[in-house]
Amino acid sequence: MHLSTATRSVRGSAIRDLLALTARPEVISLAGGLPAAELMPRARIAEAAAKALTDPRSVQYGETAGLPALRAVLAAHETGRCGREVADVVVTTGSQQALDLVARALLDAGDDVVVEEPAYVGALQVFQAAGARLHPVGLDADGMRVDDLERHLRDGLRPRLVHTVASFHNPRGVTLSAPRRVRLAELAERYGFVVVEDDPYGLLAFDGAPPVPVAAHSDRVVRLGSASKVLAPALRVGWLSGPPEVLAAVELLKQCTDLCTSSLTQAVAAELVADAAWFDAHLAGVRDATAARARAFTAAVAEHLPGARCSVPTGGMFCWLDLPGVDTTALLPRALEAGVGFVPGSAFAVAEPAPSSLRCCYASHPEGVVDEAVRRLARAAT
Ligand code: PMP
Repeated sequence: MHLSTATRSVRGSAIRDLLALTARPEVISLAGGLPAAELMPRARIAEAAAKALTDPRSVQYGETAGLPALRAVLAAHETGRCGREVADVVVTTGSQQALDLVARALLDAGDDVVVEEPAYVGALQVFQAAGARLHPVGLDADGMRVDDLERHLRDGLRPRLVHTVASFHNPRGVTLSAPRRVRLAELAERYGFVVVEDDPYGLLAFDGAPPVPVAAHSDRVVRLGSASKVLAPALRVGWLSGPPEVLAAVELLKQCTDLCTSSLTQAVAAELVADAAWFDAHLAGVRDATAARARAFTAAVAEHLPGARCSVPTGGMFCWLDLPGVDTTALLPRALEAGVGFVPGSAFAVAEPAPSSLRCCYASHPEGVVDEAVRRLARAAT
């Protein structure tokens, strides 16, 4: 069978393959980026769905750009986040679809795209399918090394777009500092690229103050948002805001893909986000519970894995560990045997595998379980 160049260009996600192994009941999985199901508001979702279903439009096709009530509440939310008018958003079937549609809207095969090293694997897959040439830029404790990006630009690199998970990075856990956000926006203006600010974790800032988006500083930013980590991934509600011509192109391409996102889950999301008092209280609950899990994780690492280097989580769901001298890909089968799963750092590599690193998601389990997972990891590693 002939398969397209796009199909042959995409590297399978090692993480998706791993999820099957870590799903065994005896394994505590720190591998998947799974938000905690018990923190998702199932009763409130059921109530909102029941209410939505009294309107026949909830079971009908809807506008490709999204349910007007949801777009309005999300545009208002983005306006608040960015401190500048965000007139509209396009709703997508998860922010993963937004990423794919933005790539298809902006990229031709062979175009240069800057990604972070290590990178969100779902973004790498999208850019591989688009036939892009990937240029990794490293990260440190303050997020993307914007100075390295600038050096590449001065040396003549002209990327069509730069992808960044600026807040609570997947997989590294770090956040782009405020001065680097401003600088990245300036570079986008000067060199004419688009920043894709992929932001499913921003609202999970443990101090309750989400970082000021890169989009606050430039019109050349496409911002992607998601309900997955703050309500539930099963809603499959994501959105993007940005230049009107990008939104129009995405809307056109979305017609090819799925005509529209589910009217029912959009109505549910609209109801929940529009109830600001409820949403804020819910968000605070998820944030505080996740912060407690992050603290349990880092305390357990300090106690049981004293040789490990561990990023300090300030939000989001991930911690990046470095176990000097340990090959984490070789460690994984032993860890699964000991009853704990993680993702080896190399799974996120663009050009530079990080053999002694690993990503752990601390968000999926209560503190006691997180502690037990780290104990098992320590046992497997020593
Ligand atoms: N971007 C990043 C950085 C992610 O980590 C994820 C999910 N793991 C997504 C986008 C996609 O999320 P969703 O499609 O559920 O909105």
